Amino acid sequence: MNAEIIAVGSEILLGQIVNTNAQFVAKRLADLGINVFHQSVVGDNPKRLTDAIKLADGRSDLVILLGGLGPTVDDLTKQTTAKYLGRELVIEQAALAKIERSFAETQRKMTENNRLQALYIAGSIPLPNETGFAVGDFYQNSNGSDFLLLPGPPSELRPMFVHQAQPLLEKNYFSQQLASRVMRFFGIGESLLASKLTDLIDQQTNPTLATYAKENEVTLRLTASADSQIHAREKLDKLEKTIQQRVGEFCYGYGDDNSLPQVVVKLLRKRQLTITAAESLTAGKFQATLADVPGVSEVFPGGFVTYANQVKSQLLKIPAESIQKNGVVSSATATAMAEQARKILHTNIGISFTGVAGPDELEGQPAGTVWIGLALKDQETQTKLFHFSKTRPYIRERTVLTGLDWIRK
Ligand code: ATP
Ligand code: MG
Repeated sequence: MNAEIIAVGSEILLGQIVNTNAQFVAKRLADLGINVFHQSVVGDNPKRLTDAIKLADGRSDLVILLGGLGPTVDDLTKQTTAKYLGRELVIEQAALAKIERSFAETQRKMTENNRLQALYIAGSIPLPNETGFAVGDFYQNSNGSDFLLLPGPPSELRPMFVHQAQPLLEKNYFSQQLASRVMRFFGIGESLLASKLTDLIDQQTNPTLATYAKENEVTLRLTASADSQIHAREKLDKLEKTIQQRVGEFCYGYGDDNSLPQVVVKLLRKRQLTITAAESLTAGKFQATLADVPGVSEVFPGGFVTYANQVKSQLLKIPAESIQKNGVVSSATATAMAEQARKILHTNIGISFTGVAGPDELEGQPAGTVWIGLALKDQETQTKLFHFSKTRPYIRERTVLTGLDWIRK
């Protein structure tokens, strides 16, 4: 079983956008066990697209076309593929109704072009678009390659691939059912994680286990196959249990699209806990990171950026003498900041960050020395000391994520 990816769009060809869709699809196909032997990019030109399709047809079991399903004149992937296959384009009624509804709701006039997005190749399986309008297409061809057509915007392509295309590919090309799971880790490096799982990684055939290191986190992808989805998932459950026993404390979440800030905000919302922060070296970065997550306003009323000592006194009402006596990079100051922030804004949680972002030392302490304070209602405030190395941006980023990870725990 081998597949070939053709990305359609002059803006990719000209380097105006990066072909992240091909990367996404290729990685997913690899996880599914489908070989990708060719990838290409072709501009919005019917003749050259036809040439590319002709070349792919026959040499690949599956040809995946990315982009060009939209309503504009340069969107010609469906038309060109249908013509090549000698097939008509027909309207997918549910998709058309969705487009009509959207235009009616926003009181815009729908043009004939907008209807084009609801077209699919006769005889194929239309793939609904959860986050947009253009329907995708899976065409099974008895005389040549199968064709899979996916929309260009990554926000549409990704859910369509995962929710619509992937189950079809599994069903059509594998008698075995595949299940996979992504576990996400923070606070443990890739090599340490791998060393704790060496035996599992080495002995694996089914399920398989792979680590990927991203900046500041490591993900583990578990993939199993079995005669049914349920059995494949049971295999994953069993493997995950072993992994959790060994390194579970570092696992903060699951899935490709579940970052540490998202996990924390979800948790706070679920438990109905509010949070505020007093930030020195991170200067608002923690709060900005929280605010990247939609729905955070339920749990985060606001907070404090207190970079200079004087501002710590002014905004947080921490006596200047106590900062002077204890030092700004100290457990005592982290405690005072977290407690005062929490009290002033009446939240359940107050977190504070004070430390040396570098490159220079502060109060005789090297760059990377960071105190984090955590004040909870009716509990004794805790502080922790960290020593992060590397550069100023890394130290600040790492500080924020460490704070989030502490809250999660
Ligand atoms: P639309 O309905 O938005 O026109 P479409 O299916 O016709 O969708 P394109 O017109 O090819 O898709 O691309 C729409 C947008 O999606 C592009 O402007 C670009 O931002 C993004 N995009 C397209 N192809 C890729 C790709 N291969 N990788 C990453 N992003 C892409
Ligand atoms: Mg388009």
